[in-house]
Amino acid sequence: MRKNLALIGALALLWLPLSAHADTNEAYRLGDGIEPRFQQITLTLDPGQADYSGSTSIELTVSGNVDRIEFYQSGLELNSVRLKSTGSIRDLSTESAAYAITGASDGQVIKAGEYVLEIDFSGKLSTNALGMYQTHHDGNNYIFTQFEAMQARRAFPLFDEPAFKIPYQLTINAPAGLVVVSNTPVEDTQVSGDHQTVRFARTRPMPSYLIAYAVGPMDATPIEGLSVPGTLYSPKGQGGKAGFAIRHTPPVLRALEDYFGRPYPYRKLDFIAVPDYAFGAMENVGLVTFRAELLLRGDESRGSDGATTISVIAHELAHMWYGNLVTMAWWNDLWLNEAFATWMGRHVMDSLYPQYQTNLSLPQDRAFTADGRTTTKAIRHDVRDEEEILDGIGLNYAKGHSILNMIEGFIGSEAMQIGIRDYMARFAWKNASDDDLWSALATASGQDIKAVAGKYLSQPGYAIVSFTEQGMVSQKRFRNYGQEAPELDWNIPLNVKYKMDDKVQQLSYLLSAKQGSIPAIAEAEWVFPDSGGKGYYRWQIAPEQVLALLEDIDELSGPEKIAMLSNSRALLDAGEASVADHFRVLEAVSEDDNPIVFLSVLEEVKLIGETIIDQQTLPMFSNYVEKMMTPWFKRIGLETGADDSEAVIRLRPRLMRTLGQFSNNPELISDAAVMALHYLKHEGDIDSNLAVEALRVTAIHGDDSVAREYLDSYSGSDDANYKTTLLRATYFTHPVSIKRALDFALSDSVSAGDSLQPMINLFYINQEHVQLYSWLEENFDAVFEKTPDNMRPFLPQVTGGYCSADNLKQTLAFYQDRDEMFKVALAKAAEDSRNCLSLKNRQQKALQDFFAAYRH
Ligand SMILES: [Zn+2]
Repeated sequence: MRKNLALIGALALLWLPLSAHADTNEAYRLGDGIEPRFQQITLTLDPGQADYSGSTSIELTVSGNVDRIEFYQSGLELNSVRLKSTGSIRDLSTESAAYAITGASDGQVIKAGEYVLEIDFSGKLSTNALGMYQTHHDGNNYIFTQFEAMQARRAFPLFDEPAFKIPYQLTINAPAGLVVVSNTPVEDTQVSGDHQTVRFARTRPMPSYLIAYAVGPMDATPIEGLSVPGTLYSPKGQGGKAGFAIRHTPPVLRALEDYFGRPYPYRKLDFIAVPDYAFGAMENVGLVTFRAELLLRGDESRGSDGATTISVIAHELAHMWYGNLVTMAWWNDLWLNEAFATWMGRHVMDSLYPQYQTNLSLPQDRAFTADGRTTTKAIRHDVRDEEEILDGIGLNYAKGHSILNMIEGFIGSEAMQIGIRDYMARFAWKNASDDDLWSALATASGQDIKAVAGKYLSQPGYAIVSFTEQGMVSQKRFRNYGQEAPELDWNIPLNVKYKMDDKVQQLSYLLSAKQGSIPAIAEAEWVFPDSGGKGYYRWQIAPEQVLALLEDIDELSGPEKIAMLSNSRALLDAGEASVADHFRVLEAVSEDDNPIVFLSVLEEVKLIGETIIDQQTLPMFSNYVEKMMTPWFKRIGLETGADDSEAVIRLRPRLMRTLGQFSNNPELISDAAVMALHYLKHEGDIDSNLAVEALRVTAIHGDDSVAREYLDSYSGSDDANYKTTLLRATYFTHPVSIKRALDFALSDSVSAGDSLQPMINLFYINQEHVQLYSWLEENFDAVFEKTPDNMRPFLPQVTGGYCSADNLKQTLAFYQDRDEMFKVALAKAAEDSRNCLSLKNRQQKALQDFFAAYRH
């Protein structure tokens, strides 16, 4: 009972601001009429102390008479608030309102004019990787910041809205000898005794969520070859591992400068490898923060690890223009900020690093499932607080990226670039909304872009487009089988590949009504409705057309084959195709010689095995996996070769994993165990992409000594890459190991930013969740406390959403009566479970029939 009481206490604290959104009349933004122009912040920080103090002065323009000055702050002690103007100083008293807004007044009118608001304050450093937070690494203490979205207000009082783009000037007092960095170059350092005062240059106008600083013992590695000075900071002793990251940063920056036709907009470009980080990376002006392992790969990194590092760098640097130089006016456009950076990052990868074949990873595939739920919201919805900003954010990135991709396919790359450059020129150092981008692209292309983009943003979901006889096309909303959702339609730029008179041809058609007609394809032998594989729609063609298309499948490109496989799966989910139909497409695509195309087949087979295969069918399914995967396995083996392409390097680990997880191949399982052991002991040069899957296979089949070994090795290391690899591999199935790993995640050995990883893995890899839920029942308050606050509402999606009736029951029972904050994520998890269970139940017989042929 006491545990529950403690939990209610924690929830009440957190809910003061959040529960306010039950009342839609309450102000969630600062009132009009007061504009900040410049803010100075002085902080006295010691990474070894929990408390800190500071003062700030904010120059303001008040444009009409007001009775109080409002600003944001959360959890700070305000020691004095003074309002200065020429010849007067007024002491103000403060009152807190909802949404972290504080009002300051002395009961008298504040007349229009220029003022300086001065506030002295003190606070406590956060410890869960958000706001201004304290962390410990390898015996040292650090302070880092993560202020997006609404976290700067926990560090100091300010006008924390993205439309207030103003210059800031920071001064940090800290123990002498520590590195102190921020968004701009250091202007002056005064050391007196064991104390230093570091004054940073004034920033260019920027939104507050991009402020960043760090204090601690750090190595500094220069990044040579940028258009501005740059340094990569890492935890003390780690600087020697930055080779790969610093080598690839200059060409990425250059490619972006070329694309935008404008130089990098700030005075310096520093990176920090942060040892405790809740996200991937953050595009703070001039000081980008990253999860440590992304920057500390050593001199060489191949496969997914290397590709991820470069794409994250490209994504964050793209934000320097899109997001930082031109900023969203309010958080409801965060999706575009992120979609654009993701799209632009991908552009850099495709042009500069074709060896990674990132064009074969289709962004819409990461959006369709979530966007097909009835509980999903439109991308563009009102947001008032951080929980509403983060609701569906992953989907919004991927869907937004897909929409931009589709628009580029519609207007062409050249018009896209011209439009983006014009938009940059117009809104540099200012704020803009999505309409501003659509009109720039419309001007550049002569097309009505808003008409296409608008419905995708204001409505959830997407269409399924049917191609019937005589070139007729029609659209309806895509729905999972048995789900009800209001009918909607979209303006869809269709790109169609088709074969007629023995010639493969292509056309574009804007479907802007429920139905349309494309006479050119009326007599086609086959049509492929998603030429280029960039469409944000599903499609359906007649069964004989599918067969004709499969006969000619090599007329499709890699992305098109992958899009076809993904579409085939959607038809299965919608109840529009059978298991046999789906496997016919899957097997045709599996014939492709490109390892990455095969990888998409492998992932689909693995997903089927993890979700809808019942215990009875599993042995036959295992034989199927063996038969399908073995030819590739024989071809590329387990050892990394010097001549391997990046594609082979990406396929190999997943091949080993899928065979190790599903097939009965004792030799492979023991090879994986040997490889895992070598990696654990730092013997040989084992690629971490391969190591993570070898460790996972070994964890799945191993006893508790395996878990002990992984967790001890984790605690004993200060290498970010090694630790991340081990934590990602916590796929333990032994009951003692499950408890061991869950307890370990709550211990001081695992940082707050990583603390959910073992739980995510254990729910995923174990079919049976009884032990996991009973552990969670006992430890929920500790889990909740350690989880970064803005991730807490999403806990039901960590532990639920599985294709299991038991899991669904447990998830509902666990969260239903807990707190309102879990409601949205709980509904999503439950819908995912129900959709998958419905598929599993209705296809059970068909799956048994299909796999019956593989009963040795
Ligand atoms: Zn981003």
